[in-house]
Amino acid sequence: VSQNRRVLSIQSHVVYGYVGQYTVELAATFPLQILGFDVDPLNSVHFSNHGGYPTVTGERLEGAQVAKIVQGLEANGILQEYSHLLTGYIGRASTLEVVSDLVKKLRAANPALKFVLDPVMGDDGRLYVSAEVVPIYRDVLCPLADVITPNGFETSLLTGVNVTSTQTAIDACEKLHEIGVPTVIITSAELQDRNDQGTSDVLHLIASHRPSSARFVIPFQKISGVFTGTGDLFAALILAHLADVPQNTDETAYLKRACERAVACMQGVLKKTVERNEEKARRMGLGESSDKATFLRCHELAIVQARVWLENPKAVCRATDI
Ligand code: ADP
Ligand code: PLP
Ligand code: ZN
Repeated sequence: VSQNRRVLSIQSHVVYGYVGQYTVELAATFPLQILGFDVDPLNSVHFSNHGGYPTVTGERLEGAQVAKIVQGLEANGILQEYSHLLTGYIGRASTLEVVSDLVKKLRAANPALKFVLDPVMGDDGRLYVSAEVVPIYRDVLCPLADVITPNGFETSLLTGVNVTSTQTAIDACEKLHEIGVPTVIITSAELQDRNDQGTSDVLHLIASHRPSSARFVIPFQKISGVFTGTGDLFAALILAHLADVPQNTDETAYLKRACERAVACMQGVLKKTVERNEEKARRMGLGESSDKATFLRCHELAIVQARVWLENPKAVCRATDI
């Protein structure tokens, strides 16, 4: 069994900005490297920039093209090197089928392989991949994953449950366990029964683990702004912080710690991002115009600038059992 910390990461590559691989190169390769991982990026798409911009150009790889790359890795005996598989934005049914074959090959080569699956499909009620991938994530890939990190919308696509309260969060987690996922992390939702102040600036992460019956919620401050790439960075951080669990220890405590750390890192990165973009908007003299609104939707995560948070997360958000 490989003792390496080597991640095969299948995500989008954008030339400009911080999502997918670029996030992986600089916030997953970057944090994963800081945290001691080698990272091998396999690009699912090659775009100019992320989908928050008015124009996106570039290509999506066909499943057969991804399969060819896998063939080369296999022929050279490289598959046994991987301790982790991380998948993000893929968006194509044929590629998801290739990934499902790949997981089986990776597990045959290393039975201890961990598969962290971010089922990237959409956000805030908007699908940004074709609808045909939804049942493939649910029926084919989720049952193979060790950890999944859907956002609230993706959770509703996978389970049919709209997560708006503690009870619906529990129902959604149960459905995802039934599909066969041991560790479920719903990265953000608004749990109305936990929002005492009735304000809209609190979000919740909900995590649940089987066979232990651990289930907890972490409230965190909602930072105002439209961000792209947060889920990509979050999944990479979870992978890194879950990798240290020694055999036969309390996995629950590690899961809590990993989620608290990842949320703390995200707070640091997003605060730095807002600060940097407000400053750039001021320098550009955008004032409070509609140009400023467009500018703020297009902004990029300040991953490099928030390096200190990635290296040294301070948990400021605490988990509560539910
Ligand atoms: P995705 O980017 O995949 O839609 P989320 O929006 O849930 O996923 O973001 C992933 C993580 O990033 C969250 O768990 C949270 O820690 C952080 N995050 C994202 N958006 C915000 C926000 N507006 N304020 C604070 N944290 C955020
Ligand atoms: N990759 C690309 C190219 C995207 O356009 C997006 C979202 O628009 C993502 C990845 C996923 O972003 P997030 O991490 O915010 O879910
Ligand atoms: Zn996402």
